[in-house]
Amino acid sequence: MNKQWKQFADGVKAIYKKDFVPLHEPTFDDKEVEYVTDCVKTGWVSSVGAYVTKFEEELAKFVGVKRAVAVVNGTAALHIALKVAGVEADDEVLMPSLTFIATANAVNYCGAVPHFIDVHKETLGVDPFKLDSYLQQISEIRNGELFNKQTNRRIKAFVPMHTFGHAVHMDELIALAEKYHLEFVEDAAESLGTYYKGKHTGSFGKVNAMSFNGNKILTTGGGGAILTNDETLADYAKHLTTTAKVPHKWEYVHDEIGYNYRMPNINAALGCAQLEKLEHFLVQKKALVRKYEELVVNLEGAALFKGPAHSNGNYWLQTLILDESLNRDEVLGFLNDQGVMSRPIWQPMHELVMFEKCPAMDLGVTNILKKRIVNIPSTPLETNL
Ligand SMILES: *Cc1c(COP(=O)(O)O)cnc(C)c1O
Repeated sequence: MNKQWKQFADGVKAIYKKDFVPLHEPTFDDKEVEYVTDCVKTGWVSSVGAYVTKFEEELAKFVGVKRAVAVVNGTAALHIALKVAGVEADDEVLMPSLTFIATANAVNYCGAVPHFIDVHKETLGVDPFKLDSYLQQISEIRNGELFNKQTNRRIKAFVPMHTFGHAVHMDELIALAEKYHLEFVEDAAESLGTYYKGKHTGSFGKVNAMSFNGNKILTTGGGGAILTNDETLADYAKHLTTTAKVPHKWEYVHDEIGYNYRMPNINAALGCAQLEKLEHFLVQKKALVRKYEELVVNLEGAALFKGPAHSNGNYWLQTLILDESLNRDEVLGFLNDQGVMSRPIWQPMHELVMFEKCPAMDLGVTNILKKRIVNIPSTPLETNL
């Protein structure tokens, strides 16, 4: 690697004033200590407690949905979101191959089959234009439901994912959902604080999912949420994620197979403290984009990914797109050796042994992008730049 990359690495370390810069770290202060201590001191650390309700209400307000149901992680949120959206065993669910494993796993937990679609280079998320012409070829509507003519399975839903906090082409996807009679469930795991034309992501689909894992923009340690404007579905999601227990003063009666997916109060306490800082995180993330813009001007063969014009993104993970003149693994090797933690994008789902036989459309853009994407340190800075 040449001098420019050395300067870039030094520049990143200078921004963070560190010799080793992690990819994404949580940021805590006295608030987290105060709220978590409150749980420990009062004994309300587990499955019931006031912080869970507070976190759900404040999150729903921030996102602009009627209800949020807090759960143990984003994968669980996706699982239940898909289930309450009506995905059943042997259905197919359209989803990007270029995503984190959780999206495909959640589809599988429903007994359904992931069906992989390609992404758009402008958003790094699903390409509605390519999907439309693909569905015209391979599917047909029978009695108001979409079927895959090749596999004879029902295609029930699709799951757009807002990659690294950049909103997908939402208007076009909503039009597709209507045209093809599909439900959609947003995987908004990475996009808390991301807006599509002024409306928050995770509020478009019938039911949507979010994650608060330790590396996300806001963390509850581990956690997730199901988001919806449908009160009935929210109540059902809450029921399913709390072992489907029928409320009663002392009896243990459960009316279906449920899941022990509820978020513990101690995690929700952490989340309440983090929500108070979310606006600040978003400002700092954008300040970091401007810093990186200055640093990349001298880098040959690499550009900072800025996302599409329709998206006001949270810039969860900062992204370099390399051109073919550069070898991704050499770039990753160099930056990591320099103490600038960097990671490639996920190996696409269609290449993993569990999913290699799943139906898939042409994944040309995915196959190019998988070799060209490098994520660089993205922790919001604590002090104003
Ligand atoms: C983080 C993430 C999830 C959920 O992950 P959990 O670790 O289960 O909270 C789901 N989808 C995507 C795209 C993610 O990045």
